[in-house]
Amino acid sequence: MSVQSPRTTRPPVALWRVPVTRIERITPRLARITVAGAELAGFPGAGTDQNVMLYFYPDDVVLPEPLTLESARAIWSRARPRTRTYTVRRHDPATGEIDFDFVLHGEHGLASAWAQRVRPGDPLIFVGPSPAYRPDPEAEVFLLAGDETAVPAIAAILPALPAGARARVLLEVADAAEEQPLPAGTEVTWLHRDGRPAGRTDLLERAVRAVDLPAGATEAWVAGERSAVLAVRRHLLDERRFPRHRVRPTTYWRHGQSGN
Ligand SMILES: Cc1cc2nc3c(=O)[nH]c(=O)nc-3n(C[C@H](O)[C@H](O)[C@H](O)COP(=O)(O)OP(=O)(O)OC[C@H]3O[C@@H](n4cnc5c(N)ncnc54)[C@H](O)[C@@H]3O)c2cc1C
Repeated sequence: MSVQSPRTTRPPVALWRVPVTRIERITPRLARITVAGAELAGFPGAGTDQNVMLYFYPDDVVLPEPLTLESARAIWSRARPRTRTYTVRRHDPATGEIDFDFVLHGEHGLASAWAQRVRPGDPLIFVGPSPAYRPDPEAEVFLLAGDETAVPAIAAILPALPAGARARVLLEVADAAEEQPLPAGTEVTWLHRDGRPAGRTDLLERAVRAVDLPAGATEAWVAGERSAVLAVRRHLLDERRFPRHRVRPTTYWRHGQSGN
């Protein structure tokens, strides 16, 4: 069943299994992994922050054929995948391609480690997609803030903003080498941790505090490590008195905790 709300669209959810076709290192700590297959032409891509749940099975699992959401669920008692959520950075229905951008944060992360060792031809299984954020057409200013895990979503949100709206982008990354090109004219401030650990700084909150944002005309979309997202959310709601529907916070990961 498809559910519509004024602010999101819920596409039909399915399981997709497609081979990896390209692996690019966008920055020292960001891998762009492209998957492609004729079946992805039917993927209901909606842009912005749309995401999917990656399924990781142990290598020795024999998967049912055909592999569908239903057949995958039917074997959960003997083979339940470990899951991680990733943004659809780009979907091209014409070529049946999807790009995912993986932050390489170390060998200890299941998805991050997979992205470091994956080779063309390896399969990727994922379930989705999620609903996609729809920017408020009434907002005049958009605050888009997050850490490197939010860059794929923010890069995909920017072209979907209402014509004439102003975007103020604040992005926390490890260092200057992690900056990426964003559409021309984007007002972006890159915040560098420069050796401080990810998920343990107040860089984002301090940067948000310092920007001038008209409370009645701004919509805020914020994602990243939980404590940073909560600090920004609190500031916008409690101190700047943003209306609740104009603050869209999402925890993308939690310091010290696996999975999401
Ligand atoms: C809706 C949504 C969209 C997302 N989109 C993306 C995306 O496009 N690209 C992307 O890279 N991530 C994205 N994320 C975040 C990603 O799902 C998490 O970072 C996830 O925990 C990574 O899984 P892992 O297996 O590599 O590490 P895990 O096994 O989950 O974690 C292992 C350890 O690493 C830490 N950790 C997890 N992520 C990071 C990080 N980024 N930096 C430093 N330490 C970390 C954990 O706290 C834990 O201690 C998204 C999350 C959500 C909810």
